[in-house]
Amino acid sequence: MDSREHIVMLPFMAHGHLIPFLALARQIQQRTGFIITIATTKLNIQYLCSSISTDSNSQPLSNIRFAELPFNTTDHDLPPNTENTEYLSPSSIGNFLHASLSLKDPLLQLLNDIVHQEGKPPLCLISDELFGWATELAKSVGTVNVAFTTTGAYGTLAYVSIWLNLPHRYSTDSEEFKVPGFPESYRFHRSQLNPYVRDADGTDIWSTYLQAQLSQSIESFGWLCNSVEEIEPLGFDLLRKYLRVPVWSIGPLIPLAALKNTSSSNSTSGFSFFKQHTAKKPGLTPEKCIEWLDLQGPDSVLYISFGSQNTIGLSQMMELAIGLEDSGVSFIWVIRPPTGFDLKSEFKAEWLPEGFEERMKQSKRGLLVRNWAPQLDILSHKSTGAFLSHCGWNSVLESLSQGVPILGWPMATEQAYNSKMLMEEMGVSVELTRGSQGVIVGKEVKRIIELVLDKEGKGKDMRNKAVEVEKKLREAVRDETDYMGSSVKAMDDFMRSILYKSTQEQAESIEVQKFMGN
Ligand code: UDP
Repeated sequence: MDSREHIVMLPFMAHGHLIPFLALARQIQQRTGFIITIATTKLNIQYLCSSISTDSNSQPLSNIRFAELPFNTTDHDLPPNTENTEYLSPSSIGNFLHASLSLKDPLLQLLNDIVHQEGKPPLCLISDELFGWATELAKSVGTVNVAFTTTGAYGTLAYVSIWLNLPHRYSTDSEEFKVPGFPESYRFHRSQLNPYVRDADGTDIWSTYLQAQLSQSIESFGWLCNSVEEIEPLGFDLLRKYLRVPVWSIGPLIPLAALKNTSSSNSTSGFSFFKQHTAKKPGLTPEKCIEWLDLQGPDSVLYISFGSQNTIGLSQMMELAIGLEDSGVSFIWVIRPPTGFDLKSEFKAEWLPEGFEERMKQSKRGLLVRNWAPQLDILSHKSTGAFLSHCGWNSVLESLSQGVPILGWPMATEQAYNSKMLMEEMGVSVELTRGSQGVIVGKEVKRIIELVLDKEGKGKDMRNKAVEVEKKLREAVRDETDYMGSSVKAMDDFMRSILYKSTQEQAESIEVQKFMGN
């Protein structure tokens, strides 16, 4: 392959998208030697650069470059310096999506500069599925756009189809509805929709953005999907039929070391997956978390986190704490201010039952980590037995890559669809509740935690199935002389297709030039 080839990548500005985009860039770069330019805004570049510089275990990444796209949030009614969804309230995200359209002109400028300097367009543009406008932009400079979905095939199909068709609007006599693209017998439930899609009618701020962007993304040259063929055969089959363009399953985009370890304590080596993964400062160091986990029994700890941008309601927080205390299980809980409070503010003791943190600390039963935890280190520790998760796709892959079953509490975007698939197709999860408004009571929390961590019955069954998925995820990225996993093959196939397309186009352009010359 010609290592002078150049690929430009355009991630959506949210941690759950930036992390797999950077992992994809590393993978393409290491496999092909191509130059990769990640185009995004100033603060997100700072975050990505620090992720690379804290990653002492990675190969040199000299061919990954960053291009800054100017983005002035105050022009769009957003708080100053809001370049990422992290601290945005869900109601501001609609604005943020529309504001992202202002990246179009600077990206066009960047692509034209590349054409000018290199004498040809980049091999392709890989843009987030939420940036459908990139399809036409890529064409205008003589290249193609490939949409990248950072979520699984099943979740992507449900997300795209529900936004484009709003099928729940036509099911007035029932809480359940069919979704185009899914088999006739499949039903989704209104409670699986976040409030913005539930209330959408095609004219609101969310639909106007997402319907326009997703329908243009469908016109891309193809889609890359952060998942593995063998873990979601149905999802991939349905997604391909719906999109009718090639879909390459190139996941799981998590550090390779986390897919090669044999789930154990890492405390003695001082090695941390976390440091290879994200540059955010954790509320507690990986070493401290591991030290605490080393004191617990195998598969006994419940890890609780709602991802990079979600939190739960105040009364839910209280009931979760009550249920946890009553259950007697050990846990690590990543805590953030509840819904309605400033997510950047200090966590207040009054949001939890009186004396809760102190009692948990004294008894060494519970560890509360403020804001951000070294998630992969926790999940890969042998003491971690289950993950109470919002079912964000990165969290799902990280959990299953370590054979850890899931207790679902989906909050937003496609998380409830992921949760449905984890329960109905994979059998690795049960759901506690949905959203930040759902009513939960301590007693039910206790019952379901005990069920998931049970060494027999449903708990055991889910753990066995999670271990099966773990094996498939690890197989998919095996790249040995006598064996190539499905994701490695898909990545090569993607590269071949894109190179073939580019050669064809160059040949055609030479023909056209010859013809014009005559
Ligand atoms: N993450 C982490 N520590 C935290 C919360 C999140 O390392 O305390 C990482 C997590 O490992 C995952 C990403 O942030 O890679 C969250 O992505 P996901 O798709 O699960 O959810 P989102 O944040 O997009 O809702």
